[in-house]
Amino acid sequence: MRVLGIETSCDETGVAIYDSEAGLLGDALYSQIAVHAEYGGVVPELASRDHVRKLLPLVKEVLAEANTTTDQLDAVAYTAGPGLIGALMVGASTGRAMALAWGIPALGVHHMEGHLLAPMLEEQPPEFPFVALLVSGGHTQLVQVDAIGEYSLLGESLDDAAGEAFDKAAKMLGMSYPGGPEIARLAEQGDRSRFRFPRPMTDRPGLDMSFSGLKTYTLNTSNDLRIDGELSAKDQRDIAAAFEDAVVDTLAIKCKRALQQTGFKQLVIAGGVSANQRLRDKLEAMVSKERAQLFYARPRFCTDNGAMIAYAGCQRLAAGQSSDLFIQCQPRWPLDTLEPITKP
Ligand code: ATP
Ligand code: MG
Ligand code: FE
Repeated sequence: MRVLGIETSCDETGVAIYDSEAGLLGDALYSQIAVHAEYGGVVPELASRDHVRKLLPLVKEVLAEANTTTDQLDAVAYTAGPGLIGALMVGASTGRAMALAWGIPALGVHHMEGHLLAPMLEEQPPEFPFVALLVSGGHTQLVQVDAIGEYSLLGESLDDAAGEAFDKAAKMLGMSYPGGPEIARLAEQGDRSRFRFPRPMTDRPGLDMSFSGLKTYTLNTSNDLRIDGELSAKDQRDIAAAFEDAVVDTLAIKCKRALQQTGFKQLVIAGGVSANQRLRDKLEAMVSKERAQLFYARPRFCTDNGAMIAYAGCQRLAAGQSSDLFIQCQPRWPLDTLEPITKP
């Protein structure tokens, strides 16, 4: 079974082709970072317009890369939510229209299910059941994953997502959007013992989290150090390190609790922040003590991409599912309301 996947939920246009026998055949990504950089964040209307410009050229590129003609495709999968409604509608209406023209089914895929299943594209995939930490620009959730579509929320951030906190902290330190990777780069050379930021909500039981207080810490610490409004490069590095350590430690403490609570021995991390090396190292150390295993996708498939949507769509198609002709996108769409996969 061969599925074309389309991702347009935010500021990345992603297109890929996944084949249930041969694996990933093609994968193209266009990032709009440059479009939004001068605004310090994603501008929804500009995002939609850029998806319109880039989507069809990317589809052609991927078909060529995958050496695939349209009559070899069995379905088109597109991200149906959650995300920016205008951006979602570009991928959904284009995907639905192409599927109709080619006489094949279309599938509306949940963006976070895509992220969650991205590590399945790697050579040593996890096996169900497992605990997943979804940690991205818009979500920070711990999920019990029993099978595809069988998701129970164990805990989540009550305010900012971890990626959002990374981006906002980066902005306070004078970096451009999205600042997560930049904080990680600076933190590598930072003095990790100079400042200690709190590990929010770790002193009480439970799996919920909070990251917005760390922004205030970042702001106050940097304001105390500014001379004539300027922060020295060393101060910037040391604050980045303190911020990163606080987020990473907090996530690791919550992941450990989730493993202990479920008794599961596999932890999957997915979403943009799962590309963070410090987080991977910290979790690697934690799971080995717990006699558990850690799984994640290659960095390209941690952030938004078409491959995860093609993969998720292919699994649902194989289970006999598809969407009807009605194009429906959901800007908000809780993961635990998804349909489970029931084999036909
Ligand atoms: P969602 O998936 O919740 O809808 P999104 O699609 O915007 O949100 P992703 O594309 O999965 O989020 O991830 C982007 C986020 O990941 C950004 O906040 C970015 O700063 C963060 N990020 C990417 N790489 C790193 C890194 N190495 N360290 C920390 N954060 C990172
Ligand atoms: Mg993005
Ligand atoms: Fe995402």
